[in-house]
Amino acid sequence: MEAWKLARDGASVRAPLLASDLHLPMKNNPMLNEEVARIFENMARVLAFKGQDRFRIMAYERAAVSLRDLEEDLAVIAEAGHLQEIPGIGHDLAEMIEEYVKTRSIRRYQRECRGIPEGLIELMAIPGLGPKTLALLSKRCRVKDFDSLKQAIDKGTLSRLPGFGQKKIDNLRRGIDLWLGGKQRMLLGVAMPLAEDLLENLRKIRLVERADVAGSIRRRRETIGDMDVLIISRDSPRALEQAVKLPVVKQVLALGDTRATVMIEGGIQVDIRSMPEESYGAALQYFTGSKQHNVHLRLLGRERGLKINEYGVFRGNKRLGGKDENEVYGLLKMPLIAPELREDRGEIEAALEERLPKLIDVGDLKGDLHTHTTFSDGKATLEEMVEHAAELGYEYIALTDHSPSERIARGLDLDRLEQKMEEIERLRKKRGNRKPHILCGAEVDILADGKLDYPDEILARLDVVVAAVHSAFRQARDRMTGRVLDAIANQHVDILGHPGGRQLGAREPVELDFERVVAAAIKAGVALEINGSMYRLDLTDVQAKAAQAAGALLAIGSDAHSTPQMDQIRFGVYQARRGWIEPRPVVNTWPFARLHRWLARHATRRHAISA
Ligand SMILES: [Zn+2]
Ligand SMILES: [Zn+2]
Repeated sequence: MEAWKLARDGASVRAPLLASDLHLPMKNNPMLNEEVARIFENMARVLAFKGQDRFRIMAYERAAVSLRDLEEDLAVIAEAGHLQEIPGIGHDLAEMIEEYVKTRSIRRYQRECRGIPEGLIELMAIPGLGPKTLALLSKRCRVKDFDSLKQAIDKGTLSRLPGFGQKKIDNLRRGIDLWLGGKQRMLLGVAMPLAEDLLENLRKIRLVERADVAGSIRRRRETIGDMDVLIISRDSPRALEQAVKLPVVKQVLALGDTRATVMIEGGIQVDIRSMPEESYGAALQYFTGSKQHNVHLRLLGRERGLKINEYGVFRGNKRLGGKDENEVYGLLKMPLIAPELREDRGEIEAALEERLPKLIDVGDLKGDLHTHTTFSDGKATLEEMVEHAAELGYEYIALTDHSPSERIARGLDLDRLEQKMEEIERLRKKRGNRKPHILCGAEVDILADGKLDYPDEILARLDVVVAAVHSAFRQARDRMTGRVLDAIANQHVDILGHPGGRQLGAREPVELDFERVVAAAIKAGVALEINGSMYRLDLTDVQAKAAQAAGALLAIGSDAHSTPQMDQIRFGVYQARRGWIEPRPVVNTWPFARLHRWLARHATRRHAISA
């Protein structure tokens, strides 16, 4: 079988999911920048397809690159009237961006696309399928969408064209694979609320006794593909009939007695399977995956004469168990492995040797050390953020607005920082002994040369300093590493914010010698952040695991720009759990007194925290 046939052969191809489809807010939503970047990128492709002027094409390409490098979101920049200050954005492009922010569409783009089949425009994003080739394919093989392209390859029509050797066709297949892989995944932070909503609704159906989501959502992978849901019901045909009528269901793709496939809001495909009660644990284990974890587990079972599948654990024809997951793992002589660990990265060995980590939980967090207020680009006032922290039961909250280089995010100059300090002082007095402790912090830019965006004497007056890279993302590895090491070496820095600099589906991580950064952070007592923003989740799970193993301190921050976003710190915790993280090295699981000692670890530092 050709490699690319493995990728959901025959399945309908989903259009890339945009934030606007889900009615996510326009502001503080990095997807917005990505959406406009994609349109500009498509614009370049459409123009190239039509054989238009190279300079116009390049202008759109350059603009797309520039938008992906941008830290602040376009809605904020547009509102401030600063669009033309973005490199590569002139008057015309600025107008187009404004139009998109207002109407979520761009007329000029639609005009240029007129007459080209939509399916064909989509194909322009396939790596290795250039506009000229596509134009040829559309003329000679009547390719107009994904299906007709596949047919042309499968039937060999393609190989009859001039210049289409086996190598070129293989490359094309690889490109299609990559393209399919990328477009079918959705951010966990987007998918999870949809899954939770679906489960809640399923559980309301009287005939449904139990409902759980399995698959990559249950493992809390940073992006997910399709959704697998399991239910128990004494009358599954009727239960499923009612399930497919739920308002969240947008389309029913298949409905049987024990299984239904539907499309829910956001274009996610969901398989709902009804399982017998005695098999439910085995099924949950099986459909949670990962595939590698399950392969390893089944192999282990076979060595012990056991057969494990979605119906249970068997010796010969005798069922030994499968009612719940504990039984499945127990029959293999190991404790239950948390879903987040099931990636076959050593968790099975650890379970057998009874050295599984005691994973951190949302409830372990005693505060949030990375938040923004209306002083910079947040939506909630300082007091509202503090009040919400109180509602979350936090012992402390750090308000870490941007530094002046983040001009468009309204980074605080020294005057406004002074104002913020005064306001915090007022609020501390007003709230008296009520928790949380309010920490005056800043998210300070690590400038391109490694210097920090506030002078040392200012940093010394802040309770918490999160240092982060927000510009010049494409520096070479050596320079970027040196830049970050410089920041870590500054004695006022407490936390290295979103160390990888990536934005999921929007920006690749920076080039960094991660091991050196971890070693330096350990030496300086600086914590590495697991940024909980669903767009970042940075450190990655693998990096977090390595950092903990090396002995580094960690901090899980929400990077909230509004009060609801503070709750999204849970995604940071999920990421941490995937990285085997225990509460111990995570500084914001510490009680305030201990945190305070750590923050004040440098004698020269004058912390003004009211204890
Ligand atoms: Zn940041
Ligand atoms: Zn931030």
